[in-house]
Amino acid sequence: MKTLVFIETDNGAPVASSWEALGKALELGGAVEALVIGQGVAAAAADAGSRGASKVYVVDDASRGIFDLDLFAADAKAVVAQSGADAFLASHTGNGRDLAGAVGFDLGAGVIADCLELKADGARLIGTRPIFSGNILVDVSVDGKPQVATLRPRAAAPAQPAGGSAEIVNVAPAAVASKVQVKAVERAETGEVPLTEASVIVSGGRGVAKDPVLGFKLIGELAAVLGGAVGASRAAVDAGFIPYKHQVGQTGKVVRPDVYIACGISGAVQHLAGMGSSKVIVCINKDAESPLFSVANYGIVGDLYEVVPALTRAAKSKLNK
Ligand SMILES: Cc1cc2nc3c(=O)[nH]c(=O)nc-3n(C[C@H](O)[C@H](O)[C@H](O)COP(=O)(O)OP(=O)(O)OC[C@H]3O[C@@H](n4cnc5c(N)ncnc54)[C@H](O)[C@@H]3O)c2cc1C
Repeated sequence: MKTLVFIETDNGAPVASSWEALGKALELGGAVEALVIGQGVAAAAADAGSRGASKVYVVDDASRGIFDLDLFAADAKAVVAQSGADAFLASHTGNGRDLAGAVGFDLGAGVIADCLELKADGARLIGTRPIFSGNILVDVSVDGKPQVATLRPRAAAPAQPAGGSAEIVNVAPAAVASKVQVKAVERAETGEVPLTEASVIVSGGRGVAKDPVLGFKLIGELAAVLGGAVGASRAAVDAGFIPYKHQVGQTGKVVRPDVYIACGISGAVQHLAGMGSSKVIVCINKDAESPLFSVANYGIVGDLYEVVPALTRAAKSKLNK
């Protein structure tokens, strides 16, 4: 089995979940190569070598400074053919899933998207992925070569720097024109932990409706003490309590933290689709019949305006903060 892993970059810097995809590829065994596309990505390519890729294909060009599906898919398609890889693997980020779909389509390859686990059976990938909003996990494999897969962020341990060095293969950018013209990129420098990378998420739902400003302040304080991020249900977002970027679920972000604390969220399937694979789920709800209790590892029946500050106090004292 030879696996080619897409190392996504942002402004030249590797996106953390790419190292998880690399880590999973190394676990699969066989040859592991990497593909880095961007501008000023020599350090990211060297990093991939240090973390275990034996060969790194690099497309480093001013035209690749911003993710552009037309251009990146053409580059990736050419490199998949050049490497002879059995499998092309990307992290299931917004860009990773776009790229995997396009590469799979262009190469007539089957795509196993959003895997929580990947195994190799000879040169065949078997991906375990959620269906029906996360209610069922299925093992999926596809015929042919190459096979394409994406791995959900936080589903695997990242490959660590181990001092290795890879053969670097510089590849000319594919001679294709993009149908997209990016005029400007504005970055939101919030200093917040990105939801998809957070190991702890504290989320609020319509249950904060009585006083949403106070509710999300309390939720934010608990998240801050635990070094986590703030999430929300769609009901909370639609009501204008908190911006969309915090939404977790089918039409929001798919997350897999170590701990997910849901405050005043009932547990609709569309919400579970985004957080159901969290390692530990804590449900705080004043309605003991709330469906989220049935998937929670820990449940607290109570008013979030009382329970959340009590948890924050307890966490502060336990963590000496
Ligand atoms: C196509 C589609 C896509 C969707 N995508 C998403 C998505 O991405 N994400 C998402 O979340 N939803 C999504 N939804 C909406 C989803 O169906 C639910 O409507 C939504 O998740 C409900 O949000 P909620 O749990 O916050 O609100 P509710 O269902 O109203 O639940 C509020 C909960 O708060 C509890 N509560 C009230 N007051 C307190 C208090 N003081 N203390 C403690 N508990 C309290 C109540 O008991 C209740 O359980 C989607 C729906 C559709 C049709």
